[in-house]
Formats: sequence, C-alpha cells, structure tokens
Amino acid sequence: MSPTFVALSAFGTLGFVYAAVPKLLLQASRWRLRTKCRRRRAIALTFDDGPGTQLTPMVLERLAKASVPATFFLLGHNVDDNVDLIVDLQRRGHEVGTHGNLHVHHVWSLPWVGMLDTRDGWRRLAGVMSTPVRAMPFRPPYGKMNLLSLLWLWWHGAPLAMWTHDSQDTRPGISITPVTFADGVRRAGGGVVLLHDFDRDSAAGTDDVLGRLDAVLRLRDEGFEFVTMSQLAAD
Ligand SMILES: [Zn+2]
Repeated sequence: MSPTFVALSAFGTLGFVYAAVPKLLLQASRWRLRTKCRRRRAIALTFDDGPGTQLTPMVLERLAKASVPATFFLLGHNVDDNVDLIVDLQRRGHEVGTHGNLHVHHVWSLPWVGMLDTRDGWRRLAGVMSTPVRAMPFRPPYGKMNLLSLLWLWWHGAPLAMWTHDSQDTRPGISITPVTFADGVRRAGGGVVLLHDFDRDSAAGTDDVLGRLDAVLRLRDEGFEFVTMSQLAAD
C-alpha cells in the first residue's frame, strides 16, 4: 500500500466520521419526529432565528388567540436586546430553545467553530431562562452539525430538535402558498413545522410568515394537537 493511498483513506474515513455520521444521525432524528407526530396526530410549531422585536409579538398574539404552545429557538446575539420578550415567551408557557449564538454553519466552518458557537449561544440564553438550562433543546443552524458539536451537545445532555416541514418563509417569491404548505402538514398527519420570527424588511415578508402560521393554526379545527418539542420528545 502506498503512503498516498493510506493518507487518502485516512482522510476519507475522517471526513465520513466528521460530517457524514452526524448527517445520518440528524436524518434519523427527522424520521423519528415524523413517526411520533403521525402517531399522535400532533403539530409542533417552531420559530428560529428570533426573537424579532416586531414579528415575535405578532406571532405571540396569534398563538394566544388559538391557545396553542410553540417552541422558539433563539440566537444568543439577540438575547441582550430582548430580555423582556424572552421572559414573556416563558411566562406565556412557550418553550425556549437555543439556536447557537451567531448562526454559523457547523460543516462549512472550521471544526471547532460550531461547538464554540453552540456553547456561546447556550450561555447567553441561560442567563435569562426561568427553567433549568440542562433541558433546553438545540436547533442546529441550517440543520447541520459536525462530530465535535454533536459530541458537545450529547456531553451537556441537550436534546436535539430537528424539523420535518420547512415553511420556506425565508425565501420570498417561492411558489408554495400557505394553504399548500399547511396541506402538506395535514397529509403527513402532522409534523414539526419550521418558521422564522426574525423581523422582516417588508410588510409583504411579515405577512408571508403570518399567513403560513395562520394556515397551520387552522388545522387545530381538524383535531390536530399542538405541542412543544419537549412534549413531543416525552412521548
Ligand atoms: Zn436559523
């Protein structure tokens, strides 16, 4: 065996363990969520990248009107400017999770960057949490993790919280309508819905998010149960 072949084999194995193994585990997590939601006919509404000073209160108003809980995955760098809003989220009975600090991509960044960003986001949010931080779920930015960040999460006992249905509310101009999106959730028998509550630059962008939320909330009239990520995990 040539040294070049050995080096390439070692590099390939390392790459597989570093990126492909976490990818498979995250995908398995999605499958488990799909099964759980379908069995329970449940929907978990989740909001990433917030809180947004303007949009999050609008979302909270709609959730209160429908009397349903949701899970908010907050970015650490948004915490200091929104402490009252985060306290209010918890007071209203919603679940708060972490989405890292600066929304870094764990696979495209240097190996340790994702792990450190997860830690920083966790620390900034932990200071304003009224519930034990050990139970705070983590939503990976872009749904990606590497081996180091995944091991960090396991070491700290933080539940991983993926999603099953992307509302695509961050992509203006896409063809999927709120009704079509909600119909996909209905046909799947429920699911973990991904929305984003960071403030949008335009009224149209805000209306797009709220329209998708309203369409999914209407599924409550069809007997779907709305749950937080922890309630789903405890099933
Ligand atoms: Zn995000």
